[in-house]
Amino acid sequence: MPTIAHEVSVFGDAIAYFNEAASLLDLDPGTRAILTHPSRQIIVSIPFQRDSGDLEVYTGYRVQYNFARGPAKGGIRYHPGVTLDEVTALAFWMTWKCAVVDLPFGGGKGGVTCDPAVLSQGELERITRRYAAELVEVIGPDKDVPAPDVGTTPQIMAWFMDTYSMHVRQNTPGVVTGKPVELGGSRGRVEATGRGIALCARDQLAQMNVDVRSTRVIVQGFGNVGSVTAKIFVELGARVVGISDVSGGYYDSRGIDVEAAIAYARQHRSLEGFAGGERVSNLQLLEQPCDVLVPAALEDQITVENAGRIQARLIVEGANGPTRPEADRILERNGIVVVPDIIANAGGVIVSYFEWCQDRAGLFWKESEVNARLEEQLLENFHAVRELARQRRIPLRTAAYAVAIDRVVRALRMRGVYA
Ligand code: NAD
Repeated sequence: MPTIAHEVSVFGDAIAYFNEAASLLDLDPGTRAILTHPSRQIIVSIPFQRDSGDLEVYTGYRVQYNFARGPAKGGIRYHPGVTLDEVTALAFWMTWKCAVVDLPFGGGKGGVTCDPAVLSQGELERITRRYAAELVEVIGPDKDVPAPDVGTTPQIMAWFMDTYSMHVRQNTPGVVTGKPVELGGSRGRVEATGRGIALCARDQLAQMNVDVRSTRVIVQGFGNVGSVTAKIFVELGARVVGISDVSGGYYDSRGIDVEAAIAYARQHRSLEGFAGGERVSNLQLLEQPCDVLVPAALEDQITVENAGRIQARLIVEGANGPTRPEADRILERNGIVVVPDIIANAGGVIVSYFEWCQDRAGLFWKESEVNARLEEQLLENFHAVRELARQRRIPLRTAAYAVAIDRVVRALRMRGVYA
């Protein structure tokens, strides 16, 4: 039983979702075993010099989970809570995310256990360059293509790309995505994850005969994903009644001024002190009255403790793994529809794929073209997932995994196992 060692881990929870769908597909034990083991887990030490002159050593990870459909693809996280277990779970999710929206990529993820909030730009640059240098042999446009995640930015991707290019002695923009547009980034990439979340929400609401313009929305997390999601909901005509970040939650049933919140967070690097809503705790925010709830911070936010008190009709998972499996069952019993992370937040990796294509072609698209292609690629695949859920009377999450696993298994069988 390959899963026993992981039972109390993020990766263990991730496997629980996989197993449900694998049973539905009647997947044989051998194929299950292959798909519940990462292809490669890499741990590197990152010695670097603080601005004070002191030397420190951080730990970095890269997990290349599966290559059946193409090069590994997935972000790099800079956060104090990064562990090999978490990075493995995130790489596992990337495998299914890339497959469910039909991208020619496998799954990967990376991370450095560090707190970017206490590091200067110079320190971040030195950590990033050393991390990239340690990985030079195993990454590349046809091997493994990193991108930003929690705590990493387009500037960090620029340093990563430059370091790789210096080592291989040629400019290689396609080694990472999420770069600044000036260095081969794609127009629309910064907004892509939030845009995809709002598009999935509007599409699912229409299916439930609800007009997005009549809805109240709560967004947890106000980083890249959360702030853009809130902004696009406002553009679609919804009322954003709650937002939060690590400093706490802010709720106003009449609607939050999202533009003002974005400007405030940009200026103060946090929402701490934002006066545009009543102050509530992060956990209370999730339980406030709303129609749509978007958890867009970190894992494990919706648990057995709070799932029963959630008032939303629809949850669209912006973060990866925000709902624990036991909580998912409570939501289902209460009739709350969940659009799962692997499809809801796939907008980012879809536009990352477009960026990789543009870098390889050396031909760059207009933002309107990026957004139109994003909508088509995301919603066509979401509709296939919803159709399977309807036919088999299963939750959207199980259907999304089933579509993804089926695609990876087909590729695996056609390739065969290299002896
Ligand atoms: P980010 O670092 O830009 O933002 C994270 C936000 O969450 C910050 O506002 C932080 O203050 C807040 N936060 C942290 N702990 C919190 C808590 N307990 N309660 C409320 N807020 C809290 O990161 P991001 O890129 O926006 O990523 C957010 C999530 O979305 C992660 O799960 C990430 O894996 C996922 N994701 C990101 C992308 C992308 O393109 N950036 C794509 C797909 C999925």
